[in-house]
Amino acid sequence: MALTAAEIWTRLLDRARRDLPAQTFKTWLEPTTALELSGDTITVGAPDRFTAEWNESKHAQLLASYAPVVLGHPIKIVFRVDEERRGRPQMDLFVAPLPDTKDGSQAAGPTSRFQLSLRYTFQNFVIGKSNELAAAAAQAAAAAPGKVYNPLFLYGQTGLGKTHLMQAIAHEILSKAPHLRLCFIATEQFTNELVSAIQTRTTAVFRRRYREVDLLLVDDVHFLKRTEATQEEFFHTFNALYEAGRQIVLTSDKPPGEIPGLEARLVSRFQWGMVADIEPPDLEHRIAILQNKARLDHLELTIPDEVIQFIAHHVWSSVRELEGSIIRLLAYASLKHQPISIELARQALRDKLRPGEDDYLETIHRLTVSTIQSAVSQEWGITVEALCSKTRTKQLTVPRQAAMHLIRELLGLQLVEIGQAFGGRDHSTVIHSLEKVQELQKEPEFSRRLELLRRNLILLPR
Ligand code: ADP
Ligand code: MG
Repeated sequence: MALTAAEIWTRLLDRARRDLPAQTFKTWLEPTTALELSGDTITVGAPDRFTAEWNESKHAQLLASYAPVVLGHPIKIVFRVDEERRGRPQMDLFVAPLPDTKDGSQAAGPTSRFQLSLRYTFQNFVIGKSNELAAAAAQAAAAAPGKVYNPLFLYGQTGLGKTHLMQAIAHEILSKAPHLRLCFIATEQFTNELVSAIQTRTTAVFRRRYREVDLLLVDDVHFLKRTEATQEEFFHTFNALYEAGRQIVLTSDKPPGEIPGLEARLVSRFQWGMVADIEPPDLEHRIAILQNKARLDHLELTIPDEVIQFIAHHVWSSVRELEGSIIRLLAYASLKHQPISIELARQALRDKLRPGEDDYLETIHRLTVSTIQSAVSQEWGITVEALCSKTRTKQLTVPRQAAMHLIRELLGLQLVEIGQAFGGRDHSTVIHSLEKVQELQKEPEFSRRLELLRRNLILLPR
């Protein structure tokens, strides 16, 4: 008997669940439903246009590729907005009229648009594979503030463009609605202001200021203090704005669930909208960023293409580093009165360059079991004691296995030695862990983390 549209879709999704990162699946595919089947075309509904388009461009082909195996025949997949789901009750919140904002209190926000950097616009943001999801989500949030992704949570290592993207959203929204009240604030500033409001008994004023904004941008929420009062205040601010349909954008160096000490209720709220990560740019992307940078700054000295290539090959930890390299190179060239060449770049950027073979060995010699253990613990937000303890919750076993793997790979220790470094485990446990890592590496999120750790460890400052 022929399968219904829903059955077909379930089969394809079941297969996709195995291949896609869990977060991706949850964000994009879980909210879809099969609408109809006509000939060999299945139409699938998505809750909004952005999700429909994203699925169409990113997932339709992958899902269709499973059809011959799971269905026995090819199929064409078309995504469209599911009008019925559009009106889901949750959305009513977003379209609720905003409370009156025209009381002339332009300066209501604790921070104003003047604190935005003029350079941090969408136009100046170079999109590549590593940040396309975050950039697309940011654009969608800017196009329909409070309506599509609320909150928008952007995370990634430092220097990869989180603050830039967050401010680009603000620029975009303000260009269309200049009267909106915006608050862009670093988490530490939020905390400091709260503390002083408590001391001066002015928390009511503090509250009002934050809860009256139309757009709240909070940078680096991983700095949210563990103190109860701060998180409590943040929680209420979040709820008030969210319920009024105001757009909230947050950045962090980790996904919500991995921020140490963050209360569960905040974790869950941060995950309500869209969580998008930014990864380090690949080579092609780094070249594009450098070219863009050279163009933007109307440099007097032109940077030859081969020098751009050289920098892109050797500097890869972050976009900030790339920018820093260009600045340093230009300063060096003007100081030395020399044209920009690869040789000059090599001299100017000596300490930024990826280590050569000799340096590599030298760095490896400086690495120890404990540097690796603490780097891994930090990455997973746990303590070294917990990492080396006997506790076997998943939260600890995964980083523990990763650490054993890195120690084996980078230091070449014997299995027994590794076991000793982790509270005296026997070598069969170590073997099991190393095997487990082989499996875990199939998960893109895990293998990305491992790769970053490996790079950072190798590049450890002297
Ligand atoms: P983060 O907040 O993630 O630490 P920033 O947003 O401060 O990083 O970015 C660091 C620098 O790199 C900024 O000058 C920013 O303009 C630049 N930058 C980051 N990503 C990009 C990009 N994709 N295109 C252009 N510039 C970028
Ligand atoms: Mg930042």
